Amino acid sequence: MENSTGKAVCPYCGVGCVIRATVQDNKVMRISADDDVAPNYGMLCPKGAHLKQVFQNHDGRLAYPMIRDRRGEPPRQVSWDEAIAFTANRLHEIQLAHGKDSIALYGSGQLDTEASYVFNKLFKGFLRTNNVDTNSRLCMSSAVVGYMQSFGSDGPPTCYDDIQHADVFLIIGANMAVNHPVLFQMIRKRRATEPNTRIITVDPRRSKTAEHSDIHVPLAPGSDVAFLQLIAKRLIAIGRVHRRFVRRNTENFSAYENHLDSLDEDELLAACDIHPARIDEIVEYLSKPSRLLSFYCQGTNQSTSGVDKNVALINLHLQLGEVGIKGAGPFSLTGQPNAMGGREVGYLSHQLPGYRVVTNDMHRAYLEGAWRVPPGSIDPKPGLTAVPMFEAAAEGKVRALWIACTNPAVSMPDTKVSQAGLRRADLVIVQDCYYPTETSEYADVILPAAQWGEKQGTMTNSERLVVRSEQFLTPPGEAKPDWWIFTQVARAMGFKRNFDFYTHQEVWDEYRLLTAGTPCDQMGMTNERLAKTSLRWPCPYPRHPGTPRRYTRRKFFTASEKAQFHTPVYKPPDEDTDAEFPLGLTTGRVESQWHTRTRTGKVPQLVRKDPEPFVEIHPDDAVENDVQDGEWVYLVGRRGRCYAKARVTEAIRRGLLFTPFHWGDLFHAETNANYVTNSAFDPVSKQPELKFCAVRIETDTV
Ligand code: SF4
Repeated sequence: MENSTGKAVCPYCGVGCVIRATVQDNKVMRISADDDVAPNYGMLCPKGAHLKQVFQNHDGRLAYPMIRDRRGEPPRQVSWDEAIAFTANRLHEIQLAHGKDSIALYGSGQLDTEASYVFNKLFKGFLRTNNVDTNSRLCMSSAVVGYMQSFGSDGPPTCYDDIQHADVFLIIGANMAVNHPVLFQMIRKRRATEPNTRIITVDPRRSKTAEHSDIHVPLAPGSDVAFLQLIAKRLIAIGRVHRRFVRRNTENFSAYENHLDSLDEDELLAACDIHPARIDEIVEYLSKPSRLLSFYCQGTNQSTSGVDKNVALINLHLQLGEVGIKGAGPFSLTGQPNAMGGREVGYLSHQLPGYRVVTNDMHRAYLEGAWRVPPGSIDPKPGLTAVPMFEAAAEGKVRALWIACTNPAVSMPDTKVSQAGLRRADLVIVQDCYYPTETSEYADVILPAAQWGEKQGTMTNSERLVVRSEQFLTPPGEAKPDWWIFTQVARAMGFKRNFDFYTHQEVWDEYRLLTAGTPCDQMGMTNERLAKTSLRWPCPYPRHPGTPRRYTRRKFFTASEKAQFHTPVYKPPDEDTDAEFPLGLTTGRVESQWHTRTRTGKVPQLVRKDPEPFVEIHPDDAVENDVQDGEWVYLVGRRGRCYAKARVTEAIRRGLLFTPFHWGDLFHAETNANYVTNSAFDPVSKQPELKFCAVRIETDTV
């Protein structure tokens, strides 16, 4: 591709900034924020701003298909024809020999909607297995269930414009300043121009977000339900209930009120382990009519009670009548650029396109008709979710794993299990932009994918904004768009007529029609419109302007059309500390790196900021464990150990450690934090508790 310009959605976080690129001789010469269009209004964070450096060379890019004849040996380059035929034949043989559920696909919220649609259709409709899950399960499946339980539909009610109208920002379980920086800049601008606004951050760490907040609540890890119920109870006690909203638009408020009434304030406070003054201050802010906008992310979701935490927060909004109005509402943040689009496509193991679910007879029948497969083709039983999928592979029950655009040999909790699954599987297909990755070391076939700027495609950001990305770069070698790769395999497996896609626009059009009449209706988002503008769903017909805010008419997607109060009960994290493992460990991210560093680990400007894994430790714990600042230490847990450089800081609670999870085995054999983390998961959302496990510190063996 010669000289050109173009724009595409940032490939990193769910804020979904639109980035412009100027290209010369297939090299990115300049990166800038798209300032005419929301969502980023001219702003970028360091990750987005350094995309140019990613394209200075093709360092580590996977450019050609490869097949590995024997595990442990280097793979050999093959043609696309050979790679596709090999993949299709092996999947077919394995299903024939071991049954339809012996294969599984593990995808990613970084895949575009077109790619997610094609693999979901292939597996659920044609290969007849629901063993399709993605790394969104690790990120936000608790938010999905929370919305479903309270509103009857997934998807946030809010939009970024609400920041300009909010009075109080409650940021709970999210380090926005680091992980959603552009959005946090918008909040800070609002705070600067409207001095009466307030930012409350609830986080066991004094994070960068907390440093810029009016109140920081350093609550005990996992005690969010107790905290939210304590606030709700205190507000009810002073009459802060929007009685008219509750009476007209909700159900089960009495049960909720009675439940809160039965809870002991001192016990709730003890669970949170915070100074009562923090609660008094928050209640004071919320005691007056104010527009409350809440942001939350992995801190609430990655928990064995993640759904309860989501529901407790939505309860608070319902109690205050702060849903479906400007400047207020519960706003879940998506970690990845297209985790929202993936949910709309139905790429979790219980879902189908258009927020449908496999357990619903009518939903299955509709998709079977649309996909022209015989009735009964779609299994009514949800497939394996992320953690059980790799466990089943490790037990020899799942024999083929197709990993697309993610790196589970680093990112899964209790990673030794996912590695065992990859090792034991008869067939591992890895589809990625980069090689090697920790996961591709296990692969039998390796398929090169085009990345940011090298393909067209569609993504939905955290505020339901659907954005079409342009192509302005030629991919290296023979790398292809993900939707093309899935389509070719489907065709090679004998489904030519049903996967008659030659452009991403054709895929989009087929998918778009399936959303008609659903809560995430995108019927009005034609290819022609998306080429010119971005739109928030629902957008049911071609002249529809899109919908910034949902539930403005107070009609929810429940049977009664009323929002539902629930009565969650506070439960501590799954794993407890004891004499052998006396410290808690929480994991998270740093601003300059993304997931397992396959892309950002190659950008010197980003690597410089945090060149190696570290662990934050409170000064008192450092003294007790004889740890010096800057010393390398082992974090030893019940499942394994990892090592990291100690950062002694008062920003972390006493008794708790924090370490980022970015560094895998390619950096060093023992720096993966997920060798230590716990794979216990929420019973409903199946999201694992990456945010808490018990460890001890060892220094003498490093
Ligand atoms: S805030 Fe998120 S979407 Fe925006 S530039 Fe940074 S990483 Fe990309």
